[in-house]
Amino acid sequence: MAFSRPPNSKIRQGEKMIIMKKAAKPEEIQHVIDEVKKYGLRADVSRGQFRTVIGLVGDELKVPFAHLAALPGVKEARMVETPYKLINREYNDLSAEGESYTIKVGGVEIGGDEPVFIAGPCAVETRQQLMKTAELSREAGAHILRGGVFKPRTSVHSFQGLGSAGRDEAEEALGWLREAGRQFGMPVLTEVRGENQVDLVAEYVDILQIGSRNMYDQDLLGAVARKDKPVLFKRHFGASIEEFLSFAEYIAAEGNKDIILCERGIVPVGKGKSFTRYTLDLAAVPVVQRETYLPIIVDPSHATGRRDLISSMSMAAIAAGASGLMIETHHNPEEALVDAQQMVTPAELKKIIDACRRISRETAASR
Ligand code: PEP
Ligand code: MN
Repeated sequence: MAFSRPPNSKIRQGEKMIIMKKAAKPEEIQHVIDEVKKYGLRADVSRGQFRTVIGLVGDELKVPFAHLAALPGVKEARMVETPYKLINREYNDLSAEGESYTIKVGGVEIGGDEPVFIAGPCAVETRQQLMKTAELSREAGAHILRGGVFKPRTSVHSFQGLGSAGRDEAEEALGWLREAGRQFGMPVLTEVRGENQVDLVAEYVDILQIGSRNMYDQDLLGAVARKDKPVLFKRHFGASIEEFLSFAEYIAAEGNKDIILCERGIVPVGKGKSFTRYTLDLAAVPVVQRETYLPIIVDPSHATGRRDLISSMSMAAIAAGASGLMIETHHNPEEALVDAQQMVTPAELKKIIDACRRISRETAASR
């Protein structure tokens, strides 16, 4: 893991931090820590993969800041102006435009040169459904398999995912997911809806998903982050980009920086009929990329809720620079128990992936 920041870091917005040079020697870092302590403050040390950052905790007025800034090995001393600094480009070495952090999972690289495609049903329904969809999605070019076992649903009367029936049912469905992933060579991901599911789900899948509705659940974020597996982190449909990144910071604050951000649409405005389920905020893609080095992907399925819009929104997302897409796919969408209206077939998925790959190649140089 890249960061060794302790949980519940005390460094807050508006506080000062010392950024060490990339080549700073251990004794130079220790010297700064000792100086900070000498003035009665605590030094919160974040030894990053890219750079060491020392936050000052305590009464900063007691410290001659200019003195610290001039110590050997110090790059700069500055005020923290953002609530998300661990994932902020500015405070890390990946500051060059376009350079991003890549997350590797089971041979798949997320945030690299090629877009990554995540496909699979909204919900795991049967073994046969999952295996068939996995096989055909793989053939279509998908890299990662998704499938909900614990579904967040608006109505308590609708299908909640097989996991909600009980522990045995959850393990059975998670077992199919793992089996399908192994058989077709795809890492697998599923949503963790509550803290009590974290241990169980982490035993079976490669990537843990935080769903839109849970973006603000900081206890769940902490528990998921501590599993040291990549986290697919979805933006809440009512969240600003700043909130989205501030809550992603809760995952990074646990020392887990393998965070895949996911734009999935925000609440549409106006009265009357809304033609899309949510409003896909594609500007969030380049904005997030300027703010953080973390990869961001797009989910056109939940954003639009319409099968006929998945292709155009997928292409637009890739043109905007997204590192990948998550597309709900079913071998026979009409049969799907959840979100049938937005599910594409594997044949449609293949067309989308092929088109997106072409767009990615053509637009890479001009972004
Ligand atoms: C999902 O991806 O399965 C899902 C429920 O999406 P969201 O949390 O974005 O609504
Ligand atoms: Mn769905």
